[in-house]
Amino acid sequence: MEIFKPLEVKGDKKLPEKESVEKIKCLIIGSGPAGYTAAIYTARANLSPVLYTGLEMGGQLTTTTDVENYPGFPEGITGPELMENFRKQAERFGTDIRMGIVTSVDFSNRPFRVIIDDNKTILAETVIIATGATARYLGIEAEKKYAGRGVSACATCDGFFYRAKDVAVVGGGDTAAEEATYLAGLCRKVYLVVRRNVLRASKAMQNRILNTPNIEILWEHQVIDLFGEEGVEGAVLVKKKGTPEEETVKIKIDGLFLAIGHTPNSGVFSRYIETNEAGYIKTIPGTSKTNIPGVFAAGDVQDPHYRQAVTAAGSGCIAAIDAERFLSEQKT
Ligand code: FAD
Ligand code: NAP
Repeated sequence: MEIFKPLEVKGDKKLPEKESVEKIKCLIIGSGPAGYTAAIYTARANLSPVLYTGLEMGGQLTTTTDVENYPGFPEGITGPELMENFRKQAERFGTDIRMGIVTSVDFSNRPFRVIIDDNKTILAETVIIATGATARYLGIEAEKKYAGRGVSACATCDGFFYRAKDVAVVGGGDTAAEEATYLAGLCRKVYLVVRRNVLRASKAMQNRILNTPNIEILWEHQVIDLFGEEGVEGAVLVKKKGTPEEETVKIKIDGLFLAIGHTPNSGVFSRYIETNEAGYIKTIPGTSKTNIPGVFAAGDVQDPHYRQAVTAAGSGCIAAIDAERFLSEQKT
């Protein structure tokens, strides 16, 4: 079991004194699968949860089309439809769902002080953080142009749509190696586009890549553009950028998978909540408990490994049960 060391809280930035103050038992931050599942369970446990949706109501799945791996939908379901179902189910049991962004927090005392949109204060007995993680993109225009039409940041989610096709994975870390290996089992050919002449991935992962016949590593290459009529038909790469040997090459691919890391949305909590080096919130293994008793974390914001809707929903359930038990223990 992980033991948390107390975090040093530096530069005690004063939170704004607000007139509108509301006391609640359970605050849920985020409206993805983790947040809504936590809402369903806490509402059914009579914790009268208040959920703030953040900017992306419904979370990451609202940015995709077909979701085929969420159990219970044998024919698949679109991401927005699935998240609408989650929302309705959370509302059915009385969750108070509100638009708003958590802009600052003070977790130094309970009830926890949480500021919404810089102008409303919530005093919450328990807080469930379910703010997700955001995939990093290269920042080229073509990523936006072909979003959902050949560009993806999740091989487990979208790989199935590229069966027997040619794809490229960008990145040289463990995620890229894992995604390339996964795609190699589905696709005809997988290019692994690596910007340096070494992989960052573990030796075991590297061996797996090097021993998979339909993976070709393009060393010292960078994607600068994509082309295609309806969807992606190919990519433009620069080899050995910034050297005398620099050259531009084109590859024919049907899909481009980004695997250059994720950014967990934990920044607003970072003065109080312990995270790993990449910013993922640390929880006591097998629970949703953070280093602050009464503050729980669920979903992608605490999960550097799986980042799936079903795992996020499962951990939302865990957080709700942990919050309910925490409040029961306070009474005894
Ligand atoms: P998210 O869904 O990321 O939701 C986070 C929520 O937190 C959002 O509502 C956001 O508005 C809110 N938020 C963030 N910051 C704040 C703040 N400061 N204040 C208030 N709210 C805040 N998984 C699958 O299992 N199958 C798939 O087919 C699949 N396809 C995918 C396709 C795409 C394009 C992407 C990007 C992801 C896909 N995934 C898929 C992964 C899946 O979407 C995530 O694992 C899942 O959504 C994580 O759920 P979550 O609840 O942790 O966070
Ligand atoms: P990562 O280790 O940070 O690797 C990111 C990779 O993307 C690096 O190779 C980096 O290149 C490359 N990259 C970053 N920005 C780029 C850009 N703009 N253009 C091209 N390439 C770019 O991230 P990760 O692979 O997601 O792994 C995150 C953490 O999770 C790591 O600790 C990893 O070990 C862990 N993880 C573990 C497993 C496992 O054990 N099964 C699986 C997945 C992830 P450079 O190398 O040149 O910086």
